[in-house]
Amino acid sequence: MSTSGVVVRVPAKINLQLAVGPLGSDGFHEVTTVFQAISLFDDVSVKFAQENSGILLSLSGSTSGGVPINNENLAMRAAKLMTEKFDLSTDLAIHLKKEIPVAGGMAGGSADAAGVIVAMDALFEIGLSRDEMEGIAAKLGSDVPFGISGGTAIGRGRGDQLTPALSRGNYHWVLALSSQGLSTPAVYQECDRLREGLDIAQPQVSESMMQALRAGDPTALGAALSNDLQAAACSLRPALRLVLDVGRDYGALGVIVSGSGPTVAFLAEDEEKSMDLTVALSSSGVVAGVVRASGPVHGARVVETL
Ligand code: ATP
Repeated sequence: MSTSGVVVRVPAKINLQLAVGPLGSDGFHEVTTVFQAISLFDDVSVKFAQENSGILLSLSGSTSGGVPINNENLAMRAAKLMTEKFDLSTDLAIHLKKEIPVAGGMAGGSADAAGVIVAMDALFEIGLSRDEMEGIAAKLGSDVPFGISGGTAIGRGRGDQLTPALSRGNYHWVLALSSQGLSTPAVYQECDRLREGLDIAQPQVSESMMQALRAGDPTALGAALSNDLQAAACSLRPALRLVLDVGRDYGALGVIVSGSGPTVAFLAEDEEKSMDLTVALSSSGVVAGVVRASGPVHGARVVETL
């Protein structure tokens, strides 16, 4: 019997480093970032649908509320791109089971787009290489290629030019979630406002971070975490400062706003410490939710054939 559909599991990302260069004349910033894929996943299923049904999209999962269910959805845009590029049938049913926070700086929408590319490659037996899929992904957004690659990687340009980073060990993260997301463009704008008149250097990868990752040293990694958007995210959402303080008070090795926020990631020494931190954060009253995750994990991959 031939395959009628596939399910792809795709991870959230956090940025261990996010260095933001000056605002370019094209309105974009050149960035240098170190991504890590962590064990918080969306499941993307793509199935063949009835003839002439077009591309149908449905959603479920704990974070699906408020996610667009039309052509604005990045998963839908990925499916359209794939059908046009490879002249594929457009009678498809896409289902997103979302667990990655929305507008949380964890690239949930990008993850779903990456999931659709991997799913359609498998469903239509196109046989694309990972590199080819990342090339298609880059047309949809800066964070989409990393959803395909996963692991730990350096992103340059707009974050879409990836090089794998040598990384040893498994890191234990505790994520403090907010009840309301932050818009990525608004955070970049605030960053420009805060840096007005300053001479901003071209972004560089942090050598101390690369060393920490090569050594598999969580203490050194905690000290090397950095994010140029953190001040802007805190300026737009001052309550984030309280969240950062709770993590520091309860012995996290490092604390960082993930990407454009508002999710805050705490690096714990080991699994036991991550459970202590989870309890402390949950009872602090300053966060909407707490999730434990570890990284690095694999990028988007097929977990089920239907
Ligand atoms: P990034 O870290 O890449 O800036 P983010 O994690 O902050 O992204 P997303 O969860 O990707 O943000 O969502 C940003 C916006 O994109 C949402 O507010 C939503 O309107 C829109 N969006 C489009 N497609 C999706 C999708 N599949 N899942 C979630 N949001 C989506």
